[in-house]
Amino acid sequence: MAAKELKAGPLADRIKQEVKSQIEQIVATRGIRPCLAAVRVGDDPASAVYVGNKIKACEEVGIRSEHHALPESTTTAELLDLIGSLNSRDDVDGILTQLPLPAAVEERLIIEAIDPAKDVDGFHPINAGKLALGRPVFVPCTPAGIIELLDDSEIEIRGARACVVGRSQIVGRPMAQLLLQRDATVTVCHSRTRDLASVTREADLLVVAIGRAGMIGREHIKPGATVIDVGMNKISDADQVRELFGADAEKRLAVLSKRGYTLVGDVHPAGAGEVAGKLTPVPGGVGLLTVAMLMKNTLKAANLRCSESA
Ligand code: NAP
Repeated sequence: MAAKELKAGPLADRIKQEVKSQIEQIVATRGIRPCLAAVRVGDDPASAVYVGNKIKACEEVGIRSEHHALPESTTTAELLDLIGSLNSRDDVDGILTQLPLPAAVEERLIIEAIDPAKDVDGFHPINAGKLALGRPVFVPCTPAGIIELLDDSEIEIRGARACVVGRSQIVGRPMAQLLLQRDATVTVCHSRTRDLASVTREADLLVVAIGRAGMIGREHIKPGATVIDVGMNKISDADQVRELFGADAEKRLAVLSKRGYTLVGDVHPAGAGEVAGKLTPVPGGVGLLTVAMLMKNTLKAANLRCSESA
């Protein structure tokens, strides 16, 4: 059996198109242009690419953006000052700080300093708490995008046995909350789970967010299950590429020789592809939805601001 690829590109484009038309309406009727402020600290190349993609998406949908790129030496106090000034500005609707922050900065204090009404990443404890209580306002973009993809692909969540591997604040935990709210029976696994494969194999719906290239193989997957691969790992070893991609390795080896690396998720693409019913590709899967949902959350923040000032 070959798994059907759940490509996210068309859905991500539709979400951005819908945001764009609503932004045009806000500009036309209320005379304001919603704005996202992105804060990045240090020289991490991956963070620079992620923020660049978010700024580009803002341009596509008509959201004004500000990119605050600060040096590695920035202190917690300096960053708190910047967040404070963005919180108090009426022309800024959404604030995101690209994670991870440098080790010397107290990440928790920064996340908690963002006004919950501008917390378009949904990481503030107030937003995490509201999600846990079943009263979500801003939901972290990656799990929110996964729910959109499941709905768009007409994959039944209600009553499904769902398993989430990974319990991070930004993916695993909010993912489990969202699936629970949609009436799935949810199990959360992590690095201390005993006999992981025996748990994941029970799942009709398996979401994997662990950060380990190709770790989830055919032995972890129930035949016919839907598998959502959140992982995004760079690999640069040709033998590893051959092992992970099997018959599709040639294309990936070409990417490797051009760029020096290729991307793979946390799911073993060749092994899982033979067992799963549906599988998200990497790249071309969940990552595209994360940025689209950030645009949707920024629109939501702007609408909340408009309704408060009306
Ligand atoms: P994270 O904060 O490092 O959390 C990883 C989670 O995986 C932890 O809960 C950890 O368990 C668990 N884990 C690690 N090794 C495991 C093992 N051998 N067996 C079972 N569980 C294990 O990672 P994250 O931020 O959630 O990101 C996960 C992956 O998703 C990364 O590859 C990241 O790049 C990717 N990602 C992609 C997007 C996107 O838009 N596509 C967005 C966010 C993240 P413990 O809690 O016990 O340590």
